[in-house]
Amino acid sequence: MVIKNRTILYNISMNGHEVSFIKERPQSLCKMCGRCCRVLTGSYPYDEILRMAQEDNEYAKDFIKLFEPYESIEAARAVDKDTVDNIIKRLEADEKFDKNSLTFYHCRYILDNNMCAIYEERPTLCRLCPSSGWVVTPPGCGFESWLFLKREEDMERVRKYKEELLELEIIKKKNHDEKILQKIDSVEKKLHATIELFSAHGSKDW
Ligand code: SF4
Ligand code: SF4
Repeated sequence: MVIKNRTILYNISMNGHEVSFIKERPQSLCKMCGRCCRVLTGSYPYDEILRMAQEDNEYAKDFIKLFEPYESIEAARAVDKDTVDNIIKRLEADEKFDKNSLTFYHCRYILDNNMCAIYEERPTLCRLCPSSGWVVTPPGCGFESWLFLKREEDMERVRKYKEELLELEIIKKKNHDEKILQKIDSVEKKLHATIELFSAHGSKDW
C-alpha cells in the first residue's frame, strides 16, 4: 500500500473549482514522505469541525475519524517544526487568521514507513487532497512547483475577469435594452463570484 494522495491543509468544504482541479493533478509528483499526514491543520477551527460533524457533514465526520489533535502548537512543532512554521506563515497572510483558533493534527493511520494503513479504504478527504493550488504543503513537498503554477493560473484568470468587468461597465453605459442589461448583470454576478472565491488569498488586489 502506498500513500499517493495527501496534503497539509485538509479542506472540508470543497467547491466546484476545487473538484475539477483534482482531475488534472499529476499524482506521481508525491514523494511519499508522509509529512502531510503527520502534521496538518484544517480549514475550520476544531470546535467548528466538531459541530459540522454533528450536523452530518461528510468531510467533517471523516476528518474527526482520521485526525487526532496535538495538545498544542509546540507539540506539533516538536514533530515537524518547518511544516508548522510554514503553515503559520502562509495563514498569517490572511488578515482574518486567528492563531488562537489554530489546531494541528496527526493522522491515526500513518505508519512508521510512511505508508497509509488504510490506503484502499482511505476516505474521500484523502483522495481529493491537495484540492486546490492554495493548500499549504510541507516545505519540499513534491507538489510545491505544480501548486505554484496553479496559483498563477488562478491569479491570471481573476485578472482577466476584472478586465471583462470593466468592459461590461462600458457596454452598459452605451446600452439601454433591458434584456441585454439583465444578461450583463447575470454575467457580472458570475465573474464577481469567482473573484470572491479567492478573496481569502487576496484576489481583490490581483
Ligand atoms: S508532503 Fe507532499 S510529497 Fe510528501 S507525502 Fe505529502 S503530498 Fe506527498
Ligand atoms: S488516512 Fe492515510 S492518506 Fe489519509 S491522512 Fe491518514 S495516512 Fe494519510
